[in-house]
Amino acid sequence: MFFHNFETLNELHVEVTTKCNAACPMCARNEYGGKTVDSLNLVEWSEKEASLVFDRRFTNLKNILFCGTHGDPATATDCLQLVKSALKVAAVEFYTNGSVRPQQWWSQLGEALKGSNGEQGKKSLAVFSIDGLSDTNHLYRRNTNFDKIMENAEAFIQSGGHARWDFIVFKHNEHQVEEAQSLAKKMGFKQFRIRKTSRFAYSPDGPDKHRVQNRHGDIEYFLEPPTNSLYINSTKKTFEKIIKNEQSCQKPSTEIRCLNKSTFQRLYVNAALEVFPCCFISRDNISPKSLLFKDLFKKVHKKYQKNFNSLRHHSWADILQHPFFKRDLLLSWKANETQLLRCQRTCSVKVDPITSQSENQSL
Ligand code: SF4
Ligand code: SF4
Repeated sequence: MFFHNFETLNELHVEVTTKCNAACPMCARNEYGGKTVDSLNLVEWSEKEASLVFDRRFTNLKNILFCGTHGDPATATDCLQLVKSALKVAAVEFYTNGSVRPQQWWSQLGEALKGSNGEQGKKSLAVFSIDGLSDTNHLYRRNTNFDKIMENAEAFIQSGGHARWDFIVFKHNEHQVEEAQSLAKKMGFKQFRIRKTSRFAYSPDGPDKHRVQNRHGDIEYFLEPPTNSLYINSTKKTFEKIIKNEQSCQKPSTEIRCLNKSTFQRLYVNAALEVFPCCFISRDNISPKSLLFKDLFKKVHKKYQKNFNSLRHHSWADILQHPFFKRDLLLSWKANETQLLRCQRTCSVKVDPITSQSENQSL
C-alpha cells in the first residue's frame, strides 16, 4: 500500500517560500517572535519550478493550499505566477497575514482566484490570518500593520475574491471575537473561522503562558490562552499529557490515524521542493536541537540517500514509489518503537490537536 499515488491525492499543501514579513511567537521560523532561527534557509520557488510540483497526473487533485510552515506565500517573488500555475490543476487556498504588497497586487490575486473552482468543484479562496483588531493583532502577528491588512483584504474582496478571516483566540483578544466577526461581515468576507490553538501545550513556559522575545532574546511579554471556555481547545488536557510524556521519554503504545493519509489525502512540498507526508514532519527537519528532529534523523534520514524526497532531483513517480512513501512510513505506525515521535504527538487516536483547532462559520 502506498502513502499516496497519482489517483489518491486530493490536496497538495505547499510552502512556496520560507520568507516572511511577520514574526509570530508560536511559529517555527523564529525564536518566540524574535530573530529568525539560524537553521532556516531563506529560499523560494521559481516560476519554472512550479511545473515540477503541479503535475497533471494527479487526477483527483481538488485543492492546493499555499500555506507556509515557515513563510508567507505573498512574500515570494513570483507568487502570482505560482498561483496561476496551480490554478491550472486545482483550486487554491491562499493563507496570509495580509500585511505585505500594495493593494493593486491583492486586486490581481482576487482576479486570479475569482471563480476559480478547480476541476473538482472546490472553491478558491484567500485566508487572512488576523488575530484581533487594530490594538491587538500585532501582539501575535508581530511586525504587521492592521490598517494595511484591512486595505489589502478590501482590495482582494472588491476584485471578486472569496475571503475568509481566521482569528486565533488569546486572552488579550477574546473580548474582540464578536466585533471582528461583524467587521468581517461588513467588509464582505464570506467566512470567519475561530482558531483554538493547541500550541500552549508545548510552550517553554508551561501550558498557561508563552513567552514573546525581541531580536536580542529578551522576553518582552507573555501570551496567555483564552479564559472563555468557548475558545479553549477541547484537547487541552490530553494533549498536555502527551507532551509531558514525550519530554520524559515515556512512550505508551499508541494507535496512529494519519491525518494526511486518511482525513485529507494530502502531501506536503516545502520551499526547497522536498516532499514530506505532512507539514509537521517538514517542520521538524529544520530544528536540529529538538527531540523531534533527532528522532526523524534516526528513523528516516539516516536510512535513505540524500535528496530522496527532492523534486529537484527526482520525479514525482520516483518519490511516490520510494520505500519511505511506499512502505516504511506505513509500517512504522504498527509498532511503538518504530513510530515517529511526531506521528505519536500529532496523530494519535487518543487526541486530535490539529482539527480541534478550527471552527468555521459562514457570514
Ligand atoms: S505569518 Fe505565518 S509564516 Fe509568518 S511568522 Fe506568522 S505564522 Fe510564521
Ligand atoms: S505526523 Fe505522521 S501520522 Fe501525522 S500526518 Fe504526518 S505522517 Fe501522518
